Amino acid sequence: MDKGAWRQGLGISTSQYLQYKDSAAWLITPGANGAPAGSTSCYYRAVTTPSPVKIIMLTDSSRLLARIRQLIAIPSVSSVSPQFDQSNRAVIDLLATWLEEIGFAVRVEPLLERPDKANLIATLGAGPGGLVLAGHTDTVPFDAGRWRYDPFGGTVANERVYGLGSADMKSFLALAIAAAREFSARDLRQPLVILATADEESSMEGARALAAAGKPLGRHAVIGEPTDLKPVRMHKGILMEAIRLDGRSGHSSNPALGASALEGMYLVIGELLRWRGELQARYRNPLFEVEGPTLNLGHIHGGDNPNRICGDCELYIDIRPLPGMTLAELREALHGRLNGLLKDGELKLSFKPLFAGIEAMETPATAAIVRAAEALTGAPAGVVGFGTEGPYLNALGMETVILGPGSIDCAHQPDEFLPLAAIQPTLDILRGLIGQFCGKTA
Ligand SMILES: [Zn+2]
Repeated sequence: MDKGAWRQGLGISTSQYLQYKDSAAWLITPGANGAPAGSTSCYYRAVTTPSPVKIIMLTDSSRLLARIRQLIAIPSVSSVSPQFDQSNRAVIDLLATWLEEIGFAVRVEPLLERPDKANLIATLGAGPGGLVLAGHTDTVPFDAGRWRYDPFGGTVANERVYGLGSADMKSFLALAIAAAREFSARDLRQPLVILATADEESSMEGARALAAAGKPLGRHAVIGEPTDLKPVRMHKGILMEAIRLDGRSGHSSNPALGASALEGMYLVIGELLRWRGELQARYRNPLFEVEGPTLNLGHIHGGDNPNRICGDCELYIDIRPLPGMTLAELREALHGRLNGLLKDGELKLSFKPLFAGIEAMETPATAAIVRAAEALTGAPAGVVGFGTEGPYLNALGMETVILGPGSIDCAHQPDEFLPLAAIQPTLDILRGLIGQFCGKTA
């Protein structure tokens, strides 16, 4: 039998190796049958005859898969609807146990307003720079009836692990810990930080609390949101606002008996569309599929009967700003324009944010973490259509790249999954980044 050189790795199943390496593999206990000794990892080498492929030991890989499944098994839904909202503490406490086991100093920081929710900051080593591997611990709510697999079962089938949070993004936390196991504090010249946050899917309160505390956790950061292992350095922001006009109802036969909120909203919409045109003429970024900022009129409700003057009217809008446009400036411009438009009439104008919003994110193409992620993945850093905690980490002075296994296409969907074939490449990339930003030569 013609055998290749021994290589170190973490396998999940023989077929995963076959798929990932595109060759047959033989997994073997370190030190046995001539494999290198002294590590708890598996070793494998290519063989010309693919069968029988025999697994002798899978200690690390089976632990990793078990841990991914353990995290999936703990419900940690976050939602702005109180009936769905849950604590994330059980996930945080389990991560804390695993991280303490391998020498990390662990801080669990409960959210001020929600002591049943917490962020976790775990640090190995010390120094002024360092690398942060970050992920959120919460998931979106789910519709159990539409899942083929148990959302909390972590079912392994079809070369995938299925479950709520499998791609978005509990698996990344288990993977980051698995990659970190291979380093000890004395190996590190700069700190390695594992950050697990609360409430990313609802209020981003976890990331907001970190930003409010104002303490950078490292110089470089990776957020392991599912990007199919392609680095991302930019996304648009999100601003959602309710615009309300209160007028006066009255009999339709005489306009003097009321003040029509609907007619006022007609002026508001006209002004919004003019403003949108100006924003789109002024801001442009060809890296995005939709190159300009967008402003959508998503919901309107006003009045009741055709024979009554409309007493109040409410419009919901959604703005997706490009990097370089801040939510605070946009809100100020929105309020200023509409207040100016209606200042002489009887209608009362008010605004209400529909949620706190997400800032647009941009990490420079020249940032060291972007360059390193591009080199390790072989993919140029791109953009995504979803919001992340990246802007908060960037605001703290950490240069942040979004990079993780699994696909956003299956996130927030029934039968969310992580391909098993993504596990080994993720570990390779994370090891490379830790070595580069925290290792002896960092
Ligand atoms: Zn996510």
